[in-house]
Amino acid sequence: MTGIMQGKRGLIMGVANNHSIAWGIAKTLAAHGAELAFTYQGEALGKRVKPLAAELGSDFLLPCDVENIETVDAAFDAIKERWGKLDFIVHAIGFSDKNELKGLYANTTRDNFSRTMVISCFSFTEVAKRAADLMNEGGSMLTLTYGGSTRVIPNYNVMGVAKAALEASVRYLAADYGPQDIRVNAISAGPVRTLAGAGISDARAMYSWNQKNAPLRRTATIEDIGGSALYLLSDLSRGVTGEIHYVDAGYNITSLPTLERLRK
Ligand code: NAD
Repeated sequence: MTGIMQGKRGLIMGVANNHSIAWGIAKTLAAHGAELAFTYQGEALGKRVKPLAAELGSDFLLPCDVENIETVDAAFDAIKERWGKLDFIVHAIGFSDKNELKGLYANTTRDNFSRTMVISCFSFTEVAKRAADLMNEGGSMLTLTYGGSTRVIPNYNVMGVAKAALEASVRYLAADYGPQDIRVNAISAGPVRTLAGAGISDARAMYSWNQKNAPLRRTATIEDIGGSALYLLSDLSRGVTGEIHYVDAGYNITSLPTLERLRK
């Protein structure tokens, strides 16, 4: 492993367990020398995150529920006190009522629309603002999105709308912070079997469709996503900002299923 992240300190938001995309990213960053802090949503998840953080040599854990802005402020205050500065953040947070991740998008309720937007989209803007205050030149921010932002994916519904807004936020934040040499990018991951992923109706069928029809004939793993995150969070990508980088085994370039499947 290289020491490409040696001397860099970053915050990982969104580890729920060892299947989380944020965990795949954290493992890769730590393997390349990064020092990590973790947030967790609620005490039950905290108990799972603590031993995982310890595996990567971190005892820096912070409770944070992005619906409660005081907890976001408290997390960044704690980082300022302990580290003084921050080199990168990973925002891998998303939520919507699973009862609305099926059927018609048109049936989305106002309450769930707002909640989904605040947790899955606006929280990135709120986190970015606080992180930027602690970043020196060369800082890097990363969030996670999905191709349901630009194309209709059955059952993804309001999450697709939130991801579209999140991707637009990436571009606006990249423009805001570019003059400070702080970069803002997103990874658009293919389907991964995680807690959040399981909330989407027919998730298994979608997963298997991607496996069969993506150019690489598989789905991207959390380690694949970790590798791309390493690039986007390190100085290797210092000329890159405002990008939505697909890590989906190529699925997004396809339109029809594979020829073998079409001819069936
Ligand atoms: P996950 O369930 O492992 O992680 C989701 C995280 O969001 C959890 O750690 C959860 O605690 C956190 N979260 C939810 N509400 C929160 C709140 N109010 N405050 C703080 N944290 C909160 O699932 P994942 O698939 O690793 O999801 C990470 C990100 O990746 C999400 O943004 C998701 O939309 C995105 N993504 C997932 C897939 C997939 O197929 N799994 C594909 C593309 C993008």
